[in-house]
Amino acid sequence: MRTIKERDIQAIIARVRHKVGESSPKSAAPPAALGRAGSDGVHTTVDAAVAAARKAFLEYRSQGLEVRHRVIDSIRSSMRKHARELAEMAHRETGLGRAEDKLKKNNLVIEKTPGPEDLQTQTWTGDRGLTLTEPAPFGVIGAITPTTNPTATIINNTIAGVSAGNAIVFNAHPNAKAVSVHTIRLINAAITDAGGPSNLVTCVPEPTIESAQTLMNHPGVRILLVTGGPGVVEEARKTTKRGILAGPGNPPVVVDETADLELAGREIVRGASFDNNLICTDEKEVFVVASVADELLESMVANGGYLLGEHELGKIERLIFTQAAHDGTPAKINPKWIGQNAGDILAAIGVRNADDRRLVVADVPVNHSLIWTEQMMPVMPVARVPDVDRAIELAVKAEHGCCHTASVFTRNVEVITRMAREIDVSIFVANAATLAGLGDGGEGFTSFSIASPTGEGLTRPRSLSRERRLAVAGGLRIV
Ligand code: NAD
Repeated sequence: MRTIKERDIQAIIARVRHKVGESSPKSAAPPAALGRAGSDGVHTTVDAAVAAARKAFLEYRSQGLEVRHRVIDSIRSSMRKHARELAEMAHRETGLGRAEDKLKKNNLVIEKTPGPEDLQTQTWTGDRGLTLTEPAPFGVIGAITPTTNPTATIINNTIAGVSAGNAIVFNAHPNAKAVSVHTIRLINAAITDAGGPSNLVTCVPEPTIESAQTLMNHPGVRILLVTGGPGVVEEARKTTKRGILAGPGNPPVVVDETADLELAGREIVRGASFDNNLICTDEKEVFVVASVADELLESMVANGGYLLGEHELGKIERLIFTQAAHDGTPAKINPKWIGQNAGDILAAIGVRNADDRRLVVADVPVNHSLIWTEQMMPVMPVARVPDVDRAIELAVKAEHGCCHTASVFTRNVEVITRMAREIDVSIFVANAATLAGLGDGGEGFTSFSIASPTGEGLTRPRSLSRERRLAVAGGLRIV
C-alpha cells in the first residue's frame, strides 16, 4: 500500500489553496514573519546558507520533475502578486531608477525566463546500442547580484537555476539587501507552498564584499553565476570554480542615412531612458551619419529627449563626472547621479520644468568622455560621423571588447549583417530599442544575467546544467 508523506499532504493542501485562490498563511504574512526562522532561506553566515542549500538540493533532487514544474509555477505566481511591491521597495532602498520600469523588469523576468522545458535530452541509437544525454543540476550555485536590477536578477536567476534542479545561495548587493532578502523569503514560501524543500534558495541578511568572496570560494558551491561590474568579474576569475560571468557593457547604437529616423529617435529614447539607463544592455552612446544627425536629434527631442545647449554640456560634465578625460578613455563617474531622473539631472544644472523629459541628449565629438564611459544614467551622447563604415569602426571601439550588446538602425540588410559580424556581441538588435534583445518588444526568452565574457550569453536553465551521458552498449533498442 502506498503511504502518503507529510510533505505530500502539504503539497496537496497548497495546490487546493492555489486553485481556490487562497494564499497560504506564509505568503500572506508580512516580510519579517515569512516562514520559520532558518527555513525561510535567510541564514546568519555563508557557511549556514550553503549547508542549508546543499541539504535542500538533495531533497529537491529526490522529488522529481513534476515537483520542479510545480515549484516554478508557484514562484512565478507569487512573484506576479508581489511584483509591484518589490519594484517599489527596490526603488526606495537603492534610490536608483524608476519604480514603474522596475515593475516592467520584474514582469519580464517572471513571464519570460525559461522554465524546466528549456532542458533538452538527446538520444542516439544504432548497431552498438543506445546513448542518452541529459542536462543535470550542478548542485549549489553561488550567485552574486547587482544593485541596478536587484529583484529582477534574483527572480531570473532563481527561475533559471531552480528549473535546472539546482539550489542557489545569493550574495546580494549591500545597497539592495533588504529588498533582496525579502524577495528570497517570498521565493522560499512559494517553493514550500508547492511541496518543494525549504532553503532551496538562501542568502545572508548582511551581504558584504567579504561575504561575496567567501561564497565564491566556498567548497560547498559548485558553480558561480556572477552579475556585476568589472571588479566582481575579476574577483570571480581568481577562484578555482567555473564562473558564468555577466559583466559590464557600453552598448553603442549606429544610425545610418537609410534609417527610419522617427523610429530610431523614439526607440533610442525608450531604451536609453528605461529605468534611467541602469540596465547593462541599455544604449549608452550613438554614432550617427552626419547627413541625418539633425533629423535624428529632432526625433529624440520629439520623443522625450532634452537636447543640451553648448553651455549646458560643460555643466553636465562637471555634475556627473568627478574626472573627465576627452581623449577617448572612460571618465570617473559621480555615483550620486547614477540612475537618477533626467529632469533631476537637468534641474541640477539650472534647467527648469523638465520633469517630463526622459533623456538628456548631448551632441558631442567622438572623443568625448560620455561616449567612452558606462555612465548608467539617462544622459545620451550622440556623435556625428562621416559614414556608416566609420560609425561601425567607432562602435566596435566604444564597446571596449565587452562582447555585450549593440544595435543599429538601417534599412540596409548588408549593414545589419556586417555590423553584427564585426561587433561580435552577445545581443545585437536591429531597428528597435536594445530591450527587444531581452524579449521586451522582440521575440525570444529573457535573462538578466548576460554572460558575455564567458560566452553563455542570455543565461537560461541549460546554461546552469551539466550534461551527463548514459551509453548502453548493445541493448535497449526496439528496432
Ligand atoms: P557592482 O560590481 O558594484 O556590484 C555587483 C555585485 O558584486 C554586488 O553584489 C557587489 O557586492 C559585488 N562585488 C563588487 N565588487 C566585488 C568584489 N571585489 N568582490 C566580491 N564581490 C564584489 O555592480 P552594480 O553597480 O551593482 O551593477 C552595475 C554593473 O553591473 C554595471 O557594470 C553593469 O553593466 C553590470 N551588470 C551586468 C549585467 C549583465 O547581465 N552582464 C547585468 C546587470 C549589471
